[in-house]
Amino acid sequence: MSDTTGTIVAVDFAPSTKLPDGSSVPTELLLQHQPRAIYVKLDDVNLEFLPPSVCAAHALAGFSETSDMCKCHAGLVKLTPHTVCWRFVSSDGFAVNVQRTGFPIQPEKACSLYALQGTTTDPGLITHFDVPKRAGADIRFLIVYVLLSRVRNLKSLLSVNLSDSIREVIESGPPDGLVGEFERIFADKLAATSRKAETARQALGWN
Ligand SMILES: [Zn+2]
Repeated sequence: MSDTTGTIVAVDFAPSTKLPDGSSVPTELLLQHQPRAIYVKLDDVNLEFLPPSVCAAHALAGFSETSDMCKCHAGLVKLTPHTVCWRFVSSDGFAVNVQRTGFPIQPEKACSLYALQGTTTDPGLITHFDVPKRAGADIRFLIVYVLLSRVRNLKSLLSVNLSDSIREVIESGPPDGLVGEFERIFADKLAATSRKAETARQALGWN
């Protein structure tokens, strides 16, 4: 059931949803706490994963197919939080234990930077400019370059966290290492292509 699309139809929040005076906690505060479960209706799936809801009239007899009040839940799944733990060790020896709890879902259109390479994001893109702190200058430049160059025009780009440090990356341009590598790999090819283009122009009488 990996990579299935669906719609969130209900959220089961944590039980302590009352303030000390007995009033309900506002929804925006509820969202700061991990829900106990999220119910998702899967697209194009009619299997019943959860038991049907039985109405009061059929509480003893059980689910009735002819009752309007008894409901079955085709394609509905209950997702609970998953916790995973791992130890991250970087190439230079920095190590930290990581524990992350979350739901195995994400907005359908959300994707990582890597999934965007070579694509054009129509009709637009909401970009989170969160560059890893430990990334070097060349990686920072490449990240910002990929993020900025996915849209057809800047009107189609919404930016989140476009901070001064990102501005620095943009204004400093590509690091010398990248420019040098480009020269090393493509210089001969560029010169040869120019010569071929010139020969072709003369052959076609375009001069
Ligand atoms: Zn019923």
